[in-house]
Amino acid sequence: MRNRVAVRVRPLTEQEAQQHCCISFIPDQPQITVGHEQRSFTFDYAYPPSSDQHHVYDTSITPLLHKFVDGYNSTVLAYGQTGSGKTYSMGIGLDSASSGGIVPRFVESLFTELAKRQTSSKVYVSFLELYNEDLVDLLNPVKRGEGLQVSIREDVQGNICWVGVREESVSTPQQLLELLQKGSIARTTASTDMNRTSSRSHAIFSVILKQSLEDGTRITSKFHFVDLAGSERLKRTNAVGDRAKEGISINTGLLALGNVISALGDVSRKVSHIPYRDSKLTRLLQDSLGGNSQTLMLACVSPADSNYTETLNTLKYANRAR
Ligand code: ADP
Ligand code: MG
Repeated sequence: MRNRVAVRVRPLTEQEAQQHCCISFIPDQPQITVGHEQRSFTFDYAYPPSSDQHHVYDTSITPLLHKFVDGYNSTVLAYGQTGSGKTYSMGIGLDSASSGGIVPRFVESLFTELAKRQTSSKVYVSFLELYNEDLVDLLNPVKRGEGLQVSIREDVQGNICWVGVREESVSTPQQLLELLQKGSIARTTASTDMNRTSSRSHAIFSVILKQSLEDGTRITSKFHFVDLAGSERLKRTNAVGDRAKEGISINTGLLALGNVISALGDVSRKVSHIPYRDSKLTRLLQDSLGGNSQTLMLACVSPADSNYTETLNTLKYANRAR
């Protein structure tokens, strides 16, 4: 299936209120123009600051939900610099603004959709954080310093299995949202304990759906919601020791992800090798990117002049993903 790419431009914040906007739109076209040089990019969806959470969900996620229930693996990746609106859009933060985001809406619509279908189904969730190449199970956090031992196994059909990750069974939207909250709290706590900010880690919230059809066939589909680490380039002068390692490792994940998605999107098929093994992030998501799975990259940007360089970088990254 083809990758889709959406770009969402958040409103200027109060602190940015005096600044100029470096982005413009053409009404009703999925096109974004940026900077003095007026560079234009076209995506599947382009959301101006006036787009609300409902509109974003309805246009870009609802089609994925239906396919997911039909059995297709799915991934939504929120990409962008810190402060661009990734967590807000995903709805996996702890503030009340998050309740209107993608995941809470998805959870409600999923159970409504399942109730309409005749299949018997079970829903599970997991919530992982990936920091450098270390994994934290946010639903089952271990003590500081003890990395989680997860092995990634691939079966003959190419299904990826995360051995050692807790999958909680849920039967109502409320139970699912409680686990989302529990994990979000663990994410914040873990980052405070280790003296780092969660913006430097990737968070992967996954909903696993197991269905038994009337003819006895069993199907499993996974939906990964990925709140990626901030894409900003670290300033060299500040990046020493652990910080530098952090920056390098995060960029490895984002770089590998960009390479995988771009290789998948190469319709000319000049590229036959998809470099999933180049990072833990892409390895974890291997069976949910490309092939029969559906991927949406949601690139988040700030419209403020002061963020122009990062905004342009994000648009270029997103453009490569098409
Ligand atoms: P990120 O996760 O990319 O670091 P956040 O999602 O935390 O960024 O967003 C930064 C701030 O901007 C938050 O206070 C958030 O509530 C606000 N914000 C982001 N996007 C929007 C939006 N589309 N509309 C209103 N406020 C937003
Ligand atoms: Mg965030």
